Amino acid sequence: MTSSAHRVAQFLRQRQELGFSEVTLDGITRAGVLEVIEQVPTTAAEGRHAPPASDAPVKTTTPRSAGVTRSAMDSPVSGGELPVLPDTLEALQLVCTGCTRCGLAETRSHVVFSDGVPGARLMVVGEAPGAQEDETGLPFVGRAGMLLDLLLQTVGLARRDSVYICNVIKCRPPGNRNPTREEIASCSPYLKKQIALVQPEVILAVGTFSGQLLSGKEEPLGQLRGASHAYEGVPVVVTYHPAALLRNPGWVRPTWDDLQRVARMLRGEYRELT
Ligand code: URA
Repeated sequence: MTSSAHRVAQFLRQRQELGFSEVTLDGITRAGVLEVIEQVPTTAAEGRHAPPASDAPVKTTTPRSAGVTRSAMDSPVSGGELPVLPDTLEALQLVCTGCTRCGLAETRSHVVFSDGVPGARLMVVGEAPGAQEDETGLPFVGRAGMLLDLLLQTVGLARRDSVYICNVIKCRPPGNRNPTREEIASCSPYLKKQIALVQPEVILAVGTFSGQLLSGKEEPLGQLRGASHAYEGVPVVVTYHPAALLRNPGWVRPTWDDLQRVARMLRGEYRELT
């Protein structure tokens, strides 16, 4: 791959990861962009946060968006009848483990419910399990998870004693594809109940799907970051997904700024105006 192909590919992926649905490239034709994209190798490890080269957006009509609004958390529209959800995390995990509300039940190895501390003051909400999470049943155990742990540690937070970690979607979408609107809608009542039971003081939403769902705003990640949001009175800080950071090291610093904001909130140094 030529270095210009690499730069174009990186630019397109960054725009997509930021949630933009279109790019304008002056001085280069659509055919030229497609030719460049053809040269871009992909690996399975790139996962959800870097679509295959042939899918890279020149001008796409399917922006990276959860495609669901807050109503997905409140009135399950998909997945058939939802049982009354129990009032303990252990019992809720059991319900999730037997869940067959969407097709992901057929392809998953494990339901990935949570990790960390049930009574934590900070709740981290990612998108969906990847291959290693599906294999182990624990969220964020792959490379992205290791980076997340490292970043949390730099602001004095650790999953073993001060963070509760889970995802919007509890089962792995095959091939790490984006979760569908229906999958998000059928799974989000579980997340809603988890939030109600954990009662975090702050929620850190990592990535577009989590950020949009918990802020209730269908804006690109770049616009959600840095703004004040709340989910049922709990402040929500939206930041980059750690998998995106692995490819865009320039986003580590702003992510760290977001984490410092979280740490200041937990220290009671300021409250978000929401
Ligand atoms: N990415 C996520 O959003 N969640 C995981 O658990 C792993 C990778």
